[in-house]
This record gives sequence, C-alpha cells and structure tokens, in this order.
Amino acid sequence: MSLFNSINFIQKMLFGLFLVALLLVSAPAALAEKLPGVVEAAMGQINKDNTKALRVRNEAIVAAEGVPQDIVDAIAGISNEVTRIGAKEESPPVWPLYWQTELIGWAFDTGDLVNIPGFAGTPIDVLVVMDQDGGFAGVKVLRQNEPVFQHGVGVERMGLFADQYAELSLRQNIKVRIRASDGEEGGANSFIDGITMATASVVVMNDTILLAALKVASQKLTGFSYQEPGKVLYDQFDKKSWNELVSEGLIQHQKVQQAEVDALFAGTDVESLDDAGLGEPFIDLYFAHLNVPTIGRNILGDEEYERLLNEEMEPDDQIVLVAANGPYSFLGEQFVEGSVPDRLALFQNDLAMEIRDLEFYRFYDRETSHLPDFEEFKLFKVKSGSVFDPAKSWDLKLLVKRNRGFLYKTHTGSFSFDYNLPHSFLLIPKSRDEREEPWVQIWESRAVDVAILLVSLVIVTVLFVYQRGLVESTRRLRWIRWGFLFYTLGFIGWYAQGQLSVVNIYPIIRSLWEGFNLGTYLIDPITFILWIYVFISLFLWGRGLFCGWLCPFGALQEMVGWVAKKLKIRQWRISESRHKQLWKLKYLVLAVLVLVSLFSTNQAIVLSEVEPFKTAITEQFVRNWPFVIYALLTLGLGLFVHKFYCRYLCPLGAGLAILGWFHRFEWLDRRKECGSPCKFCNKVCEIRAIEPTGAINYNECIQCLDCVAVLKADDRCVVRMLEVKRGKKGR
Ligand code: SF4
Ligand code: SF4
Repeated sequence: MSLFNSINFIQKMLFGLFLVALLLVSAPAALAEKLPGVVEAAMGQINKDNTKALRVRNEAIVAAEGVPQDIVDAIAGISNEVTRIGAKEESPPVWPLYWQTELIGWAFDTGDLVNIPGFAGTPIDVLVVMDQDGGFAGVKVLRQNEPVFQHGVGVERMGLFADQYAELSLRQNIKVRIRASDGEEGGANSFIDGITMATASVVVMNDTILLAALKVASQKLTGFSYQEPGKVLYDQFDKKSWNELVSEGLIQHQKVQQAEVDALFAGTDVESLDDAGLGEPFIDLYFAHLNVPTIGRNILGDEEYERLLNEEMEPDDQIVLVAANGPYSFLGEQFVEGSVPDRLALFQNDLAMEIRDLEFYRFYDRETSHLPDFEEFKLFKVKSGSVFDPAKSWDLKLLVKRNRGFLYKTHTGSFSFDYNLPHSFLLIPKSRDEREEPWVQIWESRAVDVAILLVSLVIVTVLFVYQRGLVESTRRLRWIRWGFLFYTLGFIGWYAQGQLSVVNIYPIIRSLWEGFNLGTYLIDPITFILWIYVFISLFLWGRGLFCGWLCPFGALQEMVGWVAKKLKIRQWRISESRHKQLWKLKYLVLAVLVLVSLFSTNQAIVLSEVEPFKTAITEQFVRNWPFVIYALLTLGLGLFVHKFYCRYLCPLGAGLAILGWFHRFEWLDRRKECGSPCKFCNKVCEIRAIEPTGAINYNECIQCLDCVAVLKADDRCVVRMLEVKRGKKGR
C-alpha cells in the first residue's frame, strides 16, 4: 500500500499513460489493423493484382505535362476509357479526358472549386471524373481531415461511400440517406447510403461533389441548367374531357390560316404562292404533354395510357402528342414511321430536343377509338437522356417550305407554339441556388433527437435553478442524478453521439484567421446545441454543470466509481499538495493541443486521442485494441482514484474550467462552520473540490450537489445535528 501512496508511482503512471497515448497516435494504422493469416494473404494478392493492373493502366494513359501523378493514378483507378489527360484548363479548372482523340469528359479537384468545411473545419477534397452528359464515372477522396474517418470508422468506409457515385448522374438529385425511411421510389431524389456516426462528414462530402460538379457542368455541358428537371406526379389524376383539356390549355390548340403562311414568306418570290392549292385552314393543330395522367389518361384511356407507361417508355422519357386536321401534313410525304419528323421540332431554352415517332399506334384501330377524328395523330418521344425539363415552357415548331419548282430556291419558315405545363402536376426540386445548406437536411433528420436533448436541457436547468428543493432529500437527489447520468451516457453519448471534445475547439481556433463559418458548427446539431448550452452555463455556474451532468465519459467514470465503492476497492491516497499539482497536468495537455492546432489541425486531431471519448463513447469500444486498452486504462484508474481522468488529464475539462473562471453565480450553499471547525464535506466530495478552508473550488467542482445535500440533512451534517439537538428548525 505504501507503493500506492508514493507520489513517484503516480507520476510514473501518468507518464506511462502518455506513452500509451503517444504509441497509439504514432503506431502505423496498417499495423494496428493487420488482418489475420489467410485473409491477409488474400488481400495482399488482391492489392498486388490491383496495383499491377493500375500500373498497366497508368502506363497506357498519356498525361500532359504538369498533371500530378496522384491525379493520373486516381483517374486510371476510376476510368478504363481514358487514354489521354489534357493540361489543366483555367476556367473552370478541369483536366479534359480523352479516349484517343475524342473528348469523353473532365476530371476536377473539388478543392479548386468549392470550400465547404467538414467536421474538422477543413474541406474534403475529392477528384471527380464526369462524362459529357453529367454522369459520374467515379470519385476519389484526395484530402480530408475528418476525425471520424481518420481515427474512427476508417478511411476505407469513406472509399466505399465514394464508390456509390459511379454511374450516378449530376442530373439526379443525389442525397445521402440518413434515415431508413429516406429514398422512397419515384421521389425527386436519388439516395446513396450514409455512414452511421459519420453523417455530417458524408453530407458535406456529397454537397462538395455536387456543388463542384454543378460549377463545371454550367460551363461545360451544353444546355445544362442548375435546376433539376421537374418530375411528373403520376399519382395525381382528374377526369376531364377533350374539350375541357383544350379549354384549360393542357392540350394546346393552334389554327394556322393560309394568310399567315403567306405573311411568313413576305418579300420573297413565294409570298403569294398557294401551297398546291391547299384550302383553309392551313393546319388545325393540337399538341400536349402526355405523361401527366390528367392529360395522358384522359386522352388515351386507361388501358392505352398504362401501355404507354409500362411498355413504350423509360421512366424519364417525355411523350408529346401532336394531332392535326387540315391540308398541311406535319409529317410530310417523306416521313417514315419511327423516325424524326422533318416538319416538327421541339425547342426548350433555345435548344432543339430530338423528338422521335413512338410508333404507338401501329396497330391502332381508329374506328373504335374514343378520340376525336384526326387525319394525323402521332406520339413522339423526347428521350430521357436529353435535358428536357417538363417544368419549363417549350416550343413546338412547325416548319413550312415553299419553292416555285425544283429549279428554284427553297424558302423555309416556321410557326412556333408555346406550351406550359402547370406546376401543380409536377414535383419541382429546389434549384441549387435556393437549396438548403447541408446542415438543414441533418437537422431535419434529427429533429426528434434535438427535441429530446432540448427537453433534457430544460430539465437540468430547472433542477439547477431550484437546487435547494432538489437537495432536501438525499435519496431523491441520488435517484434524479443517477437517472440523468444514465440518460447522458445512453442517449447523449452512445445514441446521439453528443460527446463534446477538444476536437470541436480546433475549428473555432482556425476561424480566427480563416473566418467564421456557422455551417461548420451546424452540421452536428447535438454537439452544436450542447456547446451553446455549455457555453452559456459556464458563465452562470462554471464547468460543473457539464462535467457533472452532461458529459457521457464523465458519467461513465462515475459509474466506475460506484462499482469501486460496491466492491469496496481501497482508494489511493494522494496528498493535498500533490493533488493540486496533478490538477495542473490537464492544463498542460490542453496547452500542448492548442499550440499544435495552431500549426496543424491534423496533428492536433491525432494528439487528441489523449481523450478516450472516441473509443469509449463514439465507437463504444469497438476499435483497434490499443485504443480500447487505453480507454479501459483511464476508466480502470477510476477504480482507485475517483474520476481520475477528469481530475488530472482531461483537456476539455481544463478548457471549460478556464472559461468557467468567469462564472457569475456560486449557488452551492455553505455554512460558516464549513472548513473550520467542520471538515465532514471535504470527505463527502469525492472529486476533492472542497478546499481545506471549506471553500468550493468551482474550477474543479462538478456540481454533483452531494455536499449541499449533506448540509441540509438532519442526520449527516454535524452542525445541523447540533442545531436539531438545540431545537432549531431553520436550515
Ligand atoms: S473532466 Fe472531461 S471527462 Fe470529466 S466530465 Fe469534464 S469533460 Fe467529461
Ligand atoms: S460534493 Fe460539492 S464541491 Fe464536491 S463536486 Fe459535488 S457539489 Fe462540488
């Protein structure tokens, strides 16, 4: 036992703890994650094969001078088609990619285009390979400091997340699936799987990729719009007649007279040429967007409309009906079934869209149809690959050609008819400009967690404000506090991942010279709310409210202390002077971390492994064994010294204590006899925050309220006992 009393032993033990922490942060990850036997050999072979294949690919790619080798490697790993990489362009900063001499897409580093800070306060830079239609060939993470990947779930998980972009398109509204209920079929979004415990990081990564790709696409892709196309609401239907559809403009009706055609050719030698003696009207034209059930189902009938949807079109194809009576044929004599008509064209945003005959009525029996009788009745398909947006207006152009004979020049004119689909028939995705920040999606998905946390913070605030009532009964105080500690560990810590950490402070430090970005802090709602609350409470009550009630690892340590008491484990005795010296150690740890963070956030994050929070709370002890041993060691020491880690090592506790120096209230009741002559409470305070004088050291106090409960108890406080004996009632 004398050994346990030895100060040297404590010092050696602390030194040993640091060595373990240093070993953890410096040990190569590969060593820590070594795979056993057969698996390792198999993985080695696969890696060897991949490396060999990649080398062969790399050698097959000709890269312009100045293209970094890691970019060549990344492109080779993503695409098999690229044979040449061009020099980096200036605006936008992209590398053009070729298959032989044909341009097939672009590669770009998102770091050149956007700067969305991740959880560590620095952006996640990704190489994106995109084809000429906005399709992603693949993406690869180039640089990132996200703590959860660096020292948590592993960078491999980030790679697996990135793999999901292959074969997705920028034209889809790609969102990260946060809840299991996300991603219903037919919605406006395409979902990719998120990563539990890394939600904020992958949402930021997704936004980084999409925003950078949109910037490139807006300059490189012809006709590309920032706006996602609207989606037809197929479950919305109103019964309407043909005439109703026409009168509401859902079927456009246009009648062209001969005089209008003549006016089209005014001033030419064909101005007054009668089109082969055609009568009036020149053409009586109807056209409509058939996908919309209220239009398509009413025109075609249920059976034919279902056939159209299920057999004749891909999900994003758009179908346009054109029907006409009159002497002028919109198809022309040369028209071949299934081809592109040469007298009709469809334009949107001044871009021509290919329309092709669907051959829908090859076997159509007009006699038995309920449709009005038309001389020409055709369904045309606008292919899903085009940039057609049903939410935007489009023009149907009818071309008319005239000449005086084969030997004369042919004159061409056209009529343009506008079509607008009411937005009530569509799901309109938000434009990129008005789309919410990445944190909004996270807050929405965690609304219930946020509500529970807010309610619990209100409860703990009320408990503190009315603490005199709370401590009236020691038993009630114990029940309430222990209930809260279990909630803190279970809900805030293990479930909601709300363990605050010094890592959260680094972005604040960086903001001093990089500027403040609220979005950085908002990407984790639980941590954000806790920090706001703790920050305010520091100036009211000091660090104790957090350390004694809201810190999950602190709660876990108290549970370890309770086990020690139940097992009657003898506690190590540390003298008052040594105890105070050891207090300073945590400030030293904090100073080292803050200093390192000024030069390298990455290194500071690595050194922050001195906090066992990630292992014990974030990862729930499912981690590489050195980290688990370290966490168990810090907890195990709590069996012999109550909350050992909190008292002597915790840099977060130290930081909170520094801010807590400015606290406004010292609400914990004391008696004038506390400290002299009575020192009973000094023993009650397991964390040893009561000075020999009886004063409470608020920098160390965790506001457990045990000492306050003592001085209210008739059977525990010595002074109170005397008062009771003398018949005094007041407390
Ligand atoms: S000292 Fe550190 S571990 Fe202990 S309760 Fe406070 S913040 Fe949590
Ligand atoms: S016993 Fe009193 S002084 Fe000690 S930590 Fe609890 S509230 Fe603070």
